[in-house]
Amino acid sequence: MSIQDNMKALRLKVEKNGNCKIVAVSKTKTPADIMEAYNANQRAFGENKAQELADKYEKLPKDIEWHMIGHLQRNKVKYIAPFVYMIQSVDSLRLLEEINKQAARNGRKIRCLLQAHIAEEETKFGFSLDELKALFQTNQLAQYESIFIAGLMGMATFTSDENQVRREFRSLKNTFEELRALPLTANAKMEDLSMGMSGDYAIAIEEGSTIVRVGSAIFGGRS
Ligand SMILES: *Cc1c(COP(=O)(O)O)cnc(C)c1O
Repeated sequence: MSIQDNMKALRLKVEKNGNCKIVAVSKTKTPADIMEAYNANQRAFGENKAQELADKYEKLPKDIEWHMIGHLQRNKVKYIAPFVYMIQSVDSLRLLEEINKQAARNGRKIRCLLQAHIAEEETKFGFSLDELKALFQTNQLAQYESIFIAGLMGMATFTSDENQVRREFRSLKNTFEELRALPLTANAKMEDLSMGMSGDYAIAIEEGSTIVRVGSAIFGGRS
């Protein structure tokens, strides 16, 4: 199947299960590959490296909505701050502070998701669910006036155990709902819950995802 066909098939599957946004994860893929998905009406794309994201932004149509989904070093924020639509992988307050600074410098407000650590693996970045709850119970996020915290992002453990994956997504969704019920600062609102990739997006949607980040099921494998 072509990228265009994969894109259309994925959209049908996702739409059947509700109203979930698809971010097409195009890391390592060429601008020509991205244009194939674009021509199947896809406009939201995700990358995990700041420089690659900035290069593709330069080369591709300007109505693409770019999502940063990978660990972001503070000294690279400046490359994407002028145009990035959403940074989904905010994994520390120091990073949030830098995004806020660069957003202000560009006269923008940048939408962010806080990355939650839900997987058993040690290597994944992010806040623990307890850290997130503590963070929103104070008003320490209020000082960041050039960002908007739109919700949470998380990755489940890479495992064939579907029950474990479901459990991890469910605990993230529960935290999302707990935070949503709190009186949040003006720059925060729990609207988006980004969970689900090629291997587990169906489970994620069942567990309440509003954004799936799908790469290989659209573009094929990455070398
Ligand atoms: C690569 C990546 C994806 C997409 O992975 P696939 O399995 O190819 O769908 C989603 N989210 C993040 C954070 C990624 O790095």
